Amino acid sequence: GSSIPNDYEIAQSVEKRHIADVVEPFGLDREDLELQGEYKAKVKLDAIERATAEKEDDGKLVLVTGMTPTPLGEGKTVTTVGLGQAFNHIDKDALIAIREPSLGPVFGVKGGAAGGGWSQVLPMEDINLHFTGDLHALTSAHNLVSTMLDNHIKQGNELDIAVNWVNWPRAIDMNDRVLRETVVGLGGDVTGIPREDGFILTAASEMMAVLCLADSLQDLKERVSRIIVAYDEDGEPVTADDIDATGPVTILLRDALKPNVVQTIEGTPAFVHGGPFANIAHGTNSLMADELASSLSEYLVTEAGFGSDLGAEKFMNIVCRFGEMEPDAVTLVASVRALKYHGQEMWPPDLDELEAEDVGMVRRGLANLDKHVRNLQKFGVPVVVAVNRFPGDTDAEVQAVIDHCKDLGIRAAESNVFSDGGEGGVELAEQVVDAAETPSDFTPLYDLDVPIKQKIETIATEIYGADGVEYHGSAEDDIERLTDHGFDDVPICMSKTFHSLSDDPSKKGAPDDWTLEVTEVYPSAGAGFLVALTGDVLTLPGLPSEPAAANMDIDADGTISGLF
Ligand code: ADP
Ligand code: MG
Repeated sequence: GSSIPNDYEIAQSVEKRHIADVVEPFGLDREDLELQGEYKAKVKLDAIERATAEKEDDGKLVLVTGMTPTPLGEGKTVTTVGLGQAFNHIDKDALIAIREPSLGPVFGVKGGAAGGGWSQVLPMEDINLHFTGDLHALTSAHNLVSTMLDNHIKQGNELDIAVNWVNWPRAIDMNDRVLRETVVGLGGDVTGIPREDGFILTAASEMMAVLCLADSLQDLKERVSRIIVAYDEDGEPVTADDIDATGPVTILLRDALKPNVVQTIEGTPAFVHGGPFANIAHGTNSLMADELASSLSEYLVTEAGFGSDLGAEKFMNIVCRFGEMEPDAVTLVASVRALKYHGQEMWPPDLDELEAEDVGMVRRGLANLDKHVRNLQKFGVPVVVAVNRFPGDTDAEVQAVIDHCKDLGIRAAESNVFSDGGEGGVELAEQVVDAAETPSDFTPLYDLDVPIKQKIETIATEIYGADGVEYHGSAEDDIERLTDHGFDDVPICMSKTFHSLSDDPSKKGAPDDWTLEVTEVYPSAGAGFLVALTGDVLTLPGLPSEPAAANMDIDADGTISGLF
């Protein structure tokens, strides 16, 4: 009802502290910050170097992931922020690291990504909109490569680039589906050579992955230089460096590389930096933010996007490997809504039906949660299920989930961080501490030196529950070529729907008796992984019939409405 304040109203009711005062107890001084007003700052690169060099033991790393979500999101960001706050209620130092929102979801179906209720990062209206400009910088950096590439072709094409083998589309941070496929270069000789092109989201750009995986300015530069932008007439890769883009692109990204720090509603510092999606990219915030935050506190709580089949799998197999990190515990977010979604035997789903109490439907959905638990256990890290409680959930529904986990010997706690802030997550935090202090034995799921197909098959069978993998389109040829080029000893970044553990969005629960279909495999040489495309995953989604944007407004005194 209207008496419950919305996220924006809650956010406005909180008195924020100066960001320099917020981070000071964690060992960052005012001189370490590049302030952007009173409540946002970037951390200088030399401060990061100092902090990471000084500290011998990193803090404990807690990854927050989730079961297969509904399109509305089940509360990973809320839980990450709330858990970070809850640690302070049990006298543990904790910091938070999450991704920065993209404008597509903000204006689309999902809304913002700054948490919600009493577990938000502030100022949410800034974080959800332009924030510190990182997404704009990334979009510009990406499109500078496109511009230099097409100019190279126009100015005589000395590198003999095959115009039909340009694999660097343009990027935009907007769910503008009409740009998915387009033709560029029309207008005759003065303009250039017409060719098919298209746009992807900035969150899907390799530039985003490069920024999020770089650990210094020099490393950023090297990663940019390696990006493959096209192939020449002999089929040899043409890199960003070949078209002289390394320097200018790195210049455009030099500020975006510095992690942003803000505060939660309860004054916990939160690093909000980098924003790759987990279905079309690797799905976690920057390594720079993780490394800095874990060097500054006892606990770092960080989020990986979508279900654990996507963000968490990639965090464990890609990010932890690159960053030499080991998660000490995983928090798996479940919601009654998502459990009912998986228990509801119909497609398309009836989202309204999920609102009424139905313990039976909750129980039928547990197969999905259980599969995520089993998957995470394969990495050797203890799992704590957090039941993120929504206002309409009943005690019987929540208890059914907790009891089920206890029966299986899995740690579980109800989380009320949305309604009660950190206090609502004390039991969860205690269980997470208990899990993190248990000796664990983290191992990625596959070795890098096995063949490409074997890596893909491991993910497909062990994580997605497929019987095997079929290769269609160019996939077989791609794998052969990549292997010949010696680009086979890197991790795999799967591109897969988030609606299902399988590659078919309509399959709920824990689908079995199916085969994963891989249609293309291409190198992200700058990021340092191979991308495997499955099914129809849109790299430029569209807006829904009732976009969140249509309900947004700002009045004469600057008060915003409709942002959530
Ligand atoms: P995720 O990070 O898993 O995608 P979010 O934390 O962004 O999910 O939450 C998705 C949406 O649901 C947000 O609008 C958030 O405010 C809302 N939400 C999350 N948890 C709750 C809750 N316990 N009660 C009410 N709304 C919630
Ligand atoms: Mg989130």
